[in-house]
Amino acid sequence: MATASDMRTEPMDEADETALLDSIQRWLDREVRPVIIEHDHEDKWPEKLVPQMAEMGLFGATVGKQYGGLGLPATTYAKIVMLICSYWMSISGIFNTHLILCTAIEKFGTERRDGDYYVINGSKTWITNGIHGSVFALLVKTDPDAEPRYKGMSLFIAPKGEGFVTGKRLGKLGYKSIESAELHFDDYRVPADNLIGGEEGQGFFQATGGLELGRINVAARGAGMAEGALKLASDYAQQRETMGKPICEHQAIQLMLGEMVTRARAARLLTLDAAEAYDGGARCDMEAGMAKYFASEAARKNAEDSMRIHGGIGYSTEHHVERFYRDAMLTVIGEGTNEIQRIVISKQWVKRNPV
Ligand SMILES: Cc1cc2nc3c(=O)[nH]c(=O)nc-3n(C[C@H](O)[C@H](O)[C@H](O)COP(=O)(O)OP(=O)(O)OC[C@H]3O[C@@H](n4cnc5c(N)ncnc54)[C@H](O)[C@@H]3O)c2cc1C
Repeated sequence: MATASDMRTEPMDEADETALLDSIQRWLDREVRPVIIEHDHEDKWPEKLVPQMAEMGLFGATVGKQYGGLGLPATTYAKIVMLICSYWMSISGIFNTHLILCTAIEKFGTERRDGDYYVINGSKTWITNGIHGSVFALLVKTDPDAEPRYKGMSLFIAPKGEGFVTGKRLGKLGYKSIESAELHFDDYRVPADNLIGGEEGQGFFQATGGLELGRINVAARGAGMAEGALKLASDYAQQRETMGKPICEHQAIQLMLGEMVTRARAARLLTLDAAEAYDGGARCDMEAGMAKYFASEAARKNAEDSMRIHGGIGYSTEHHVERFYRDAMLTVIGEGTNEIQRIVISKQWVKRNPV
């Protein structure tokens, strides 16, 4: 198992990082922006964009170069997610979800091989990429009698195959074009060497270890959407005129914009703070929890304020704002609800600050 110091990742060279982000921005403007509304409204899987994201290496963004990834630090990864989500959150979910599996394998995986099988039965709902995905991280109970219960869980690499049944695709308010599905396991046989770490009972720690990066990812989505909603509002407020002047000169709009700018900035800084702590190799569930909590609420509020600033047009499905409004709410719920985040933050705070 990798230690904290093994997991330390150096920051990327600033010029290289800027060039990478610039190339992604050009791709977003050229390939993504023109097709967002159509895909979102038709809830259509972005066939053309997925191979392009794979080509850019986004599916292995933080995976070590020795395993074919880009080996990026979490700070650069967070900036990529923020940038993409300032346009469209759904496409980030396609590669982010894959990266969570990769992270668990990279952190806890072994090179071991043997020939036995585990037989798995059960179901799990709300699985992102459940239909197009071909391999999943699967947390199962290998010792139902273990006390405490979390010590009876193990994490497997689970490729689709016999006994692995894809159930129905779930309808959603937002986060369109990326599927959320039910998965069922009916005497599904998984080779013993797919047990991550090669030892039973480690799954809970491995899965919650992956949650730190997962929460940084959701924080980056929130921060990106807070920025995207702000940009739309700021552009519109400078163009739309009422009572003989642009609405950005009305104090009511200024108050909203002032709060939106502050929220977006604070969300970005908290997200990068958590990503830096992650790159440092230390435990960072409190930092990741704070970033996820704050940035997702910032996205939700900025989407709402952006819609208010747009007036009637903000409610139109021909405009981008309503999508931010629908998408932002997922970041409040996903990867652990914000109620749970506040409990995690509080517990960690007390643990780190004993009387
Ligand atoms: C679009 C979408 C995609 C998803 N993708 C995935 C995926 O790919 N893989 C995956 O595994 N999961 C996925 N999920 C599941 C997601 O992580 C959960 O929905 C989320 O963590 C909340 O869990 P829950 O739905 O069971 O809510 P519950 O845990 O039932 O929560 C309901 C309410 O009770 C509160 N609550 C619950 N427990 C406590 C407590 N102890 N103290 C205080 N309040 C509490 C919650 O905050 C919430 O307000 C996805 C969900 C959605 C909506």
